Amino acid sequence: MPDPSFKPVPYPMSPFPRTTLPTPYPHIPLPHIPASGIYIHIPFCRSRCHFCAFYLQIYREDRAQDYLTALFREIQLHVEQSTLGDRRLDAVYFGGGTPTTLQPSALGEILACIRASFGLQPDAEITVEAHPDTVTREGLSHLVNAGFNRISFGVQSLDDDELARMGRSALPDKTSTAVASARDAGFTNLNLDLIFGLSGQTLESWQSTLAQAIALNPTHLSCYALTVEDGTRLIVDIRRGDCAHPEEALQNAMEDEAVKQLTAAGFTRYEISNYSRPEYACRHNKLYWEGGEYLGLGPSAQSYVDGARFGNVEDLKAYQDLSADGCLPIAEREQLDPERRHREALVFGLRLTEGIPIDSIQAGKLDADCKAKMAQLLNEGWLEETGGRMKLTAAGRRFADSVAVELL
Ligand code: SF4
Repeated sequence: MPDPSFKPVPYPMSPFPRTTLPTPYPHIPLPHIPASGIYIHIPFCRSRCHFCAFYLQIYREDRAQDYLTALFREIQLHVEQSTLGDRRLDAVYFGGGTPTTLQPSALGEILACIRASFGLQPDAEITVEAHPDTVTREGLSHLVNAGFNRISFGVQSLDDDELARMGRSALPDKTSTAVASARDAGFTNLNLDLIFGLSGQTLESWQSTLAQAIALNPTHLSCYALTVEDGTRLIVDIRRGDCAHPEEALQNAMEDEAVKQLTAAGFTRYEISNYSRPEYACRHNKLYWEGGEYLGLGPSAQSYVDGARFGNVEDLKAYQDLSADGCLPIAEREQLDPERRHREALVFGLRLTEGIPIDSIQAGKLDADCKAKMAQLLNEGWLEETGGRMKLTAAGRRFADSVAVELL
């Protein structure tokens, strides 16, 4: 599951014409050469979890075939337009949805196409998201042989009742079997996604989920606070009184518990929701927070290339029609001015535990208004300066989205 706390920075809707992208984009030099990556959105799941608001469809073989045809066409269009120029990719990320609803051979073909179409660093991180219920030992071996070197399991909870209440099919023993199979197949870099604040979840059951997750010995854990999104079954259930809205105090206690248990187990919290063993921070996710560039492929995928943010159409049929017509399936696009880019770099960089170097703030990149707001946030205790870096305080981390709104 992509980081649900990551929200593409909003920009005015400006339907992009059904023509091709204007190229080349005006290039505004950045102070460093950013890393770059590709995100592939695979919009299928076997069923929809009650809390999930991502764009997806229920998997069907015919839908998958049509999607693959459109995806290969989209890749070809980006190659023809040289969207990524001669960049060499540091990370490729297959997210969704549930990528492993597709056959392992299809995932391997997509990766081979990416490899043949764009430059990949020899040690590029290549991640596939997986639902524990959709993998087999044989299929996982196929993925390793195809070149995938990181797997991210959407586990969410290791409590039977909590899983059932959120409409998930995978029971805890399925997760431990899937993790063992992945390791057996050759995956050594392995993430587990967990959610806290679920309906009926207690501090004790969260402690147990964390302990079981740690016992599976992953290299990375993502712990997301549940947010209630419009358009989900969860929000309907809450309105009907069938379940309760997550309690803020309990979620805060659960977050503290995650920090405590994971730190004791040797993980470092390197971002608000992400913890890793040394050297295993997710390179793809760091692209978002460190000003890296990424090209998103597939319906609803978001991109940031050459100082422009652009996003694909969400609807699978529209995505397929545009690609078939030889048009990049882009719905909206905004070229950021340098001031906006510096503000965004600040806001995303603050999500990292290490924060950002104060030098980069003092180098005159930020406008006076933004600096004044930072001074105010420092005074109010949401930001702090330590070790030559600007960081969110513990309180600021809980309200990172509000801090971002202030600074953008
Ligand atoms: S498996 Fe993941 S993407 Fe699919 S519905 Fe559940 S949370 Fe959403």
